[in-house]
Order: sequence, then C-alpha cells, then structure tokens
Amino acid sequence: MSVQTSIEWTDATWNPVRGCTKISPGCKHCYAEIFAERFRGVQGHPYEQGFDLRLVPEKLTEPFAWRSPKLVFVNSMSDLFQDGVPEEYVRAVSRVMTTADWHTYQVLTKRSERLRELLSEKLQFAADQEHIWWGVSVEDRKYGLPRVDHLRQAPARVRFLSIEPLLEDLGKIDLSGIAWVIVGGESGPGARPMKREWVVNIRRQCRMQGVPFFFKQWGGVRKARAGRLLDNRTYDEYPKRVTKPVPDRARAAAFSQAFLRIVQELLNHQPLVQFTA
Ligand code: SF4
Repeated sequence: MSVQTSIEWTDATWNPVRGCTKISPGCKHCYAEIFAERFRGVQGHPYEQGFDLRLVPEKLTEPFAWRSPKLVFVNSMSDLFQDGVPEEYVRAVSRVMTTADWHTYQVLTKRSERLRELLSEKLQFAADQEHIWWGVSVEDRKYGLPRVDHLRQAPARVRFLSIEPLLEDLGKIDLSGIAWVIVGGESGPGARPMKREWVVNIRRQCRMQGVPFFFKQWGGVRKARAGRLLDNRTYDEYPKRVTKPVPDRARAAAFSQAFLRIVQELLNHQPLVQFTA
C-alpha cells in the first residue's frame, strides 16, 4: 500500500527516514514535528520516538510494492540530507529510486550544501535521472535563496523549489536551471501570514523565465477556508514527467531482490526486510 497524502503536489509519501532537527525560520512550525511528537512514548507507534532521527530500513523497499506509477514525496517527515543520515543510507535510498524507476520521486531538502556535495560525487548515478526531481525549500532571502544557488551548482537533471512557507518578498530570483516552483503559505496555529504581492512576484518571474508554477495554498489558521485560488484560478503546473511501464509482480520482486543485494553491501550486511510479490 502506498502512503496516501493530502499534500497537493504529490501522490504518495515514502519515509525511509523519520525525524529531523530545525535549521532555519521555515522550520518554526514544522508540521512533521508536530505530528510526530503527538505519538512520543506510544508503544509500537511508528513515531514512538517522537521526532528524533531514526533510519527505517524496513521501509526501503516500499516503492517496489506500489502497482501504479506515482509521484512520490521522499521523506515528507524528515530531511534525507541532514548530517545524521549516513552517506551509505542516502545512497541506499537513491538506489531504490533508480531501480524502481516507474515512479517519479520528489526529494526536498533544506541541507542544500550536502545535496550538492553528494550529487556531485557519490550520488552521480541518481543525479542525472529524469524521474528523480531534486528540490530545496526556500522560505526567505537569508536562508532560502542561497539554497537555490547550491541546487543550481548540483548536477541534477530536474531541479525544483518548494517556496513554503513563504515568509517575505523574495525580490529577484534567478530561476535558471530550475524546472518547477511550488509556492505556499504556512498553515496551522500561529501561522505567519503570506502577502499576495509576494506570490505574484514569484508567479511573474516564473512566467518570464518559463518555469511551471504550482500554487499550493494560502495557508493560515483555517487553511481550507483560505483555499488555493490565486486571482480566481488554481495553478497546478508540473515539469514534464517521464512515464515507464510498471513491471509485473515477478519482475518487481526480482528488482527488489537485486536492489537488496546492492544495498546490503552498502549497509554492511545489516538485515533488511524483503519485498515479496
Ligand atoms: S528541515 Fe523540514 S522536516 Fe526538518 S525540521 Fe525543518 S521543516 Fe521540519
């Protein structure tokens, strides 16, 4: 079973890592932390350890079991490129994405320098894949915009920006090399407001630079009421997506086994749960 999600720009979430630490103002009201901490101490719950960082190797093979091509948000409850995630494990996650290539993956991080470093070397095999979209979060000028430069310096085939929560006017943005822009306001208790002119400024630059624009939401305390119309319409644009046929169950299982052999080497032969058809 895929993990269904209400996130507007994806079909499913996949979390082979759980938990994270805050690094910039965009993290202030992190929805993943709020969700995870609700279950701290609940025995047997996936978030029994709250938002503490935890690798979840038994989740690694999950995409092999999904029987239809999906847009997959990788680590919606974490950040794959945080320092505490070993390089070997990031490679293992990337191996799944290159092997189960009938899905399209959306990898989003605030750790843009590590993303750049790994895509330039150890993750070259995954950087150039059309079905893996590599993105950075951008919330403001000080912390967010430098990430755009780091992303551009990474040898990724498809790069995207998640500008959410948008906390101020970003001014002029260099969108060269960027294939997709998502914009959204913060939601939930204490949500910081987003001004229309900040959004329109980004939409205008996307139009000028030919970049698909996705307007996710206005946000606010009552997110549903605020909606996602901008000037009386929705913006649900995406980059071009490659489609590949889903292998039959036997082939998917064979892929899974081949993948496990590679990954067990990467992870020094630690036991992993195997996907069975
Ligand atoms: S980087 Fe993302 S997942 Fe991690 S604390 Fe910040 S908002 Fe939450």
